[in-house]
Amino acid sequence: MSHAPSKSEVYFNVAADHLGLSPQMRTLLLMPERDVKVQCAIRMDNGEIGTFVGFRVQHDSARGPMKGGLRYHPEVDDDEVRTLAQLMTWKTAVVDLPYGGAKGGIAVDPRSLSKGELERLTRKFVDQIHDFVGPDSDIPAPDMGTNAQVMAWFMNQYQKHHGFQPACVTGKPLELHGCEGREEATGRGVVIIADRLFHKLGQSLAGKTVALQGFGNVGSFTAKFLYERGARVVAITDVRGGVKDPLGRGIDIPQLLEYARHNNGVQGFVGTEPLSNEDLFSQNVDLLIPAALGGQLTALTAPTVKAKYIVEAANDPTTPEADEIFAKNGVTVVPDILANAGGVTVSYFEWVQNRSVVHWPVDEIRAKLEIKMAAAFDAVWQIAQDKKVPLRTAAYILAIGRVAHATELAGVS
Ligand code: GLU
Repeated sequence: MSHAPSKSEVYFNVAADHLGLSPQMRTLLLMPERDVKVQCAIRMDNGEIGTFVGFRVQHDSARGPMKGGLRYHPEVDDDEVRTLAQLMTWKTAVVDLPYGGAKGGIAVDPRSLSKGELERLTRKFVDQIHDFVGPDSDIPAPDMGTNAQVMAWFMNQYQKHHGFQPACVTGKPLELHGCEGREEATGRGVVIIADRLFHKLGQSLAGKTVALQGFGNVGSFTAKFLYERGARVVAITDVRGGVKDPLGRGIDIPQLLEYARHNNGVQGFVGTEPLSNEDLFSQNVDLLIPAALGGQLTALTAPTVKAKYIVEAANDPTTPEADEIFAKNGVTVVPDILANAGGVTVSYFEWVQNRSVVHWPVDEIRAKLEIKMAAAFDAVWQIAQDKKVPLRTAAYILAIGRVAHATELAGVS
């Protein structure tokens, strides 16, 4: 490539070097298949016109229909969506789902819209992209700022154009062809991976101290399952503030979940002290879990991290500079494309059920998720051992190798 590598290309290139990929194959794999930006104009509640920008990037379809979430957040832009779409290609490949990768979103703060405005915006977005998404081509799902309700509107609007197609989107409500255990899936997967990591090291997740950034869908379920497996979550921050257990015994997560529901966040929970985001990273804990926005662990924050283990529940939380610092400081990082793949894995289960119009019980979903995540972790761990590389490089080697191989087998004519 003639230009300087972008942030997301740094990790790619390290693995591509290990795989000996040609410059032509690298260009093919990095360039998105389709990258669109659409206008979404709606009537606001006050009668004025609201104009928003919607994005969908379809990165790669060599291994199957493209899959990835829809993010509603003010910071959504071309660059972010492109990076996240590429991550989805590697993520679906690491866990060996028959999918490629995509991502989309709308640059909006969903909390600033009424429910009616949010519904109209979602429907308008579907009208703008329905021609080139669908169960066989590109299947959206929830991400930051979206949820099962948004997916229900998405499906309903898509079906106005295409008829009965419940598999056109995943993460739907249970009443509308949704899947048991989908909402908890990313958090459950993160904890399966953390458990597996300590198991490989001859240690146990039980008793480990954890600092967690984020208490949204992924963060709160991660906290719940960590608690259930005996880990001690001693520090948590969310968008409004943070809490720390001064005694280090571990916060009572079931009670905190209840408290956060009624108080709009974790701040002020009984028996805790306030904690800022910056201080969260430097907590003296065993395990740090970023479960919020991307780009949080940087050249600035990475040197302050005392945890010896990081499991990336968020997408793209670590800059390449920070990653290098962690490698130097002996911090083991389990990368996002492996650690948070539980969500898309259960999305795949939802899609499979929708296509055969069946409904699997929650125990079956959880058992299947555990098997998938454990197999992916073991495969990545093995590559890391064999090639003496960090887990991120190993995960990229596995993923890019699979996508490149599929591309070659299909042929480029
Ligand atoms: N948004 C989630 C992710 O980043 C899930 C994507 C999906 O289920 O398709 O992995």
